[in-house]
Amino acid sequence: MSMNRRQFCALGTAGALTAIAAGMVGCANESSKLSDTGAAAPAATAIGDANVNFGQEVDILVVGAGISGMFAAIDPAAAGKNVLIVDQNATYGGDAIYSAACQMCSTAKLTEEERPEKYMSPEEVREKFAPYYEDNPEGLDRTVLLQDWGGRYIDRMHYDWGYQFQELRESPYHQAFFPKDGLCTMKSEFELINEKVTEAGANYLFETTFKTLITDESGAIAGARFVQKDGSLLDIKAQAVVLATGGYVSNQEWMVKYAPEWAFLGNIVSGRKGDGIAAGVAAGGTLAGMTASSNLNPRYEAGHMLGTFYPLIGLLPNGKRFYCETAVHDAATGALAAGYNEWYSIWDGVAQNGIDQEVIAHAGNAIQTANTVEELAEKMGLALETVQAALANWDAICDNQEDPDFGKTLFLQKLQPPYYFLRNYPVRYKSCGGLAVSDRMEVLDEGGNPIPNLYACGCTAGTEDIVPAAGSGMLVSTTLAEDYAA
Ligand SMILES: Cc1cc2nc3c(=O)[nH]c(=O)nc-3n(C[C@H](O)[C@H](O)[C@H](O)COP(=O)(O)OP(=O)(O)OC[C@H]3O[C@@H](n4cnc5c(N)ncnc54)[C@H](O)[C@@H]3O)c2cc1C
Repeated sequence: MSMNRRQFCALGTAGALTAIAAGMVGCANESSKLSDTGAAAPAATAIGDANVNFGQEVDILVVGAGISGMFAAIDPAAAGKNVLIVDQNATYGGDAIYSAACQMCSTAKLTEEERPEKYMSPEEVREKFAPYYEDNPEGLDRTVLLQDWGGRYIDRMHYDWGYQFQELRESPYHQAFFPKDGLCTMKSEFELINEKVTEAGANYLFETTFKTLITDESGAIAGARFVQKDGSLLDIKAQAVVLATGGYVSNQEWMVKYAPEWAFLGNIVSGRKGDGIAAGVAAGGTLAGMTASSNLNPRYEAGHMLGTFYPLIGLLPNGKRFYCETAVHDAATGALAAGYNEWYSIWDGVAQNGIDQEVIAHAGNAIQTANTVEELAEKMGLALETVQAALANWDAICDNQEDPDFGKTLFLQKLQPPYYFLRNYPVRYKSCGGLAVSDRMEVLDEGGNPIPNLYACGCTAGTEDIVPAAGSGMLVSTTLAEDYAA
């Protein structure tokens, strides 16, 4: 199946966004082999830009085995198509598998059934988000669409596949679904999703890194090039390619460009360099919504997520509380806003011995224990009076059942020794924006027209969270089953 470079062309992605501005995207024509003197020079080869040489052929190629890519594969595979999911990692799951696993969704039937006060119809979603999208009607349409498909994801997991999300617990996030075993345990959901991917007949190829898209002689997308574990290239021919490589939070250059306010914070994710986004742009796609993400994470999820369900206080190094600890995403941004790059979270046996053991395990030995206030202050490295004053302040809030500074209303319970604490710091963990896509998840060119055979989903198409990523994967899956039905 060896193909000549004149028939198939590998689209460059390295530095694609810069290259586009210079009009250099795509592979160089072989006729450009002139030396400075104008004389014919020996044929030159750019290493890694070898002629296209298909080593494998499938119907649908999904690049990325995160939640969006896994869902993308299911419908076309179930319809009998040969579907391959390729990932640079050694297994599936992407970011979500080790995330906090908080799956926010107001639009599912399950929301309506179990948490009716949180349910929103598509019309209500539109009304709620309209003020944020006054100048961006397409953005509003996309939000409504993906909220709707996000609801279908929750419902597919629960009603179609029998997954039992955790029962509703006291927390400010009644619209959030968590895996049955608690925070950070999305592995159980992924095992089920993987079962369905496999049952449908899709295959995986791991430890294989996407490099670039391949076009045929008419310029249409015809497959993709990968680098295998041993460094060799693998070109895979396909009728359609789905770009599902996640976002670009670990692409420092892009963070500086699109999210400068977060660019110089630490990053908790590796391997999200925007490879799919760059490849889509190299193929004529356009960018949408590239900006800073809506929030930051702490390095250790335990330090904020335990505050969702248990008594926990957050303290700055000056001993002051600085946010409502149930509003978890205000921790990292709140510490920065207060001028600090770190904070302490303190809890007691209620959280430590609760059901959310995995989030505690994720923090490893970053969690320390103290049997007395003196030991706590010593281990935190703060003055005893500072810690005593902070705990006295918290005790008074609990006595009065009122938090005048931050309006916290849940878990106003005094902390009892032994204390558990960790020192946390803000990190960036997700990006915002990606490829512009149609409402069928087709990658769009500058004129707003779908690029034939090219699709995107998840963060590559600009989602930020688990539920819309999964929903967008289901949406593209439906599209593929329709477009490649024959
Ligand atoms: C620490 C952390 C906590 C989070 N907590 C939450 C939460 O509680 N709730 C929530 O809603 N969201 C959370 N998120 C965000 C959520 O995990 C993501 O939005 C979601 O997983 C994105 O799914 P995706 O399929 O778009 O991409 P990803 O999960 O990023 O998957 C992309 C896949 O593509 C692969 N890939 C990338 N580049 C290449 C390449 N060149 N070649 C081959 N493969 C490639 C990657 O290895 C990966 O497997 C969290 C994220 C992090 C990092």
